[in-house]
Amino acid sequence: MIFEGRVSIVTGASQGIGENIALELSREGADVILVDIQKEKLEEVADKVARNKGKSSVFCADVSRLDQVKEVIEKVVQNHKRIDHLVNNAGITRDNLLMRMTEEEWDAVLTVNLKGVFNFSKAVIRNMISNRYGRIVNISSVVGQMGNPGQTNYAASKAGVLGFTRALAREVAPRGITVNAIAPGYVATPMTENLPEQVKKIFIELIPMKRFGSPDEIAHAVKFLLSDEAAYITGQVINVNGGMVM
Ligand code: NAP
Repeated sequence: MIFEGRVSIVTGASQGIGENIALELSREGADVILVDIQKEKLEEVADKVARNKGKSSVFCADVSRLDQVKEVIEKVVQNHKRIDHLVNNAGITRDNLLMRMTEEEWDAVLTVNLKGVFNFSKAVIRNMISNRYGRIVNISSVVGQMGNPGQTNYAASKAGVLGFTRALAREVAPRGITVNAIAPGYVATPMTENLPEQVKKIFIELIPMKRFGSPDEIAHAVKFLLSDEAAYITGQVINVNGGMVM
């Protein structure tokens, strides 16, 4: 087990990619801090971790609220003293063509997807700097690299995450902290399950591997970036997208 004794925070851990990341890290011995908005779903994930004989704790917080995020981190530091891993995974979509997009749709997506990454990274960085160790992985998207009609808000937020990743990586590299991003392509999760079949077919045509990814394929890439084997990798984006962007 490669993460025995490590403390790992995963945001948006209730379902989809975040749930799979949390389960993967707990299987590797990490004590996983599960963060999401809804308590019930989080507790189901905590039960799954416990059934696998793993360790986790549950924190309800909105990643877009710095006050709530700070409260989570204060409690985690009180209980565990250290934070080794942060996986900024929570994200939302509010799709619309720009002509019809409301200010609320723009603000909601930017606030969760980009400010959420700022909030959690800011809240953990002091602890990581004093430990001279840390790994941050931000979940971006292929849409932040290539754009997608109807997703100006989402594409801007995910491209913003890539810029944030590179800037923070440069700031903290001398302190033993790495900061990287993963840009998934289309992944079969609750976020994509309601896409009309016709739209799914069009996306699959664009993917050289002719299928959506699975959440555990993203989790494996996260595990690698958090591992000791990835110690000399920082400020990078790993594309896990079936060849959609090369
Ligand atoms: P998902 O199934 O919708 O899961 C996202 C989780 O984040 C949900 O549990 C959601 O809770 C939670 N969340 C939303 N807003 C939050 C907030 N303000 N604070 C705390 N938690 C919040 O999505 P997913 O497909 O697993 O996506 C995970 C990440 O991968 C996202 O950043 C997404 O943009 C990115 N991504 C996904 C795909 C894909 O094809 N699925 C592709 C590229 C990138 P609620 O359900 O209660 O809202």
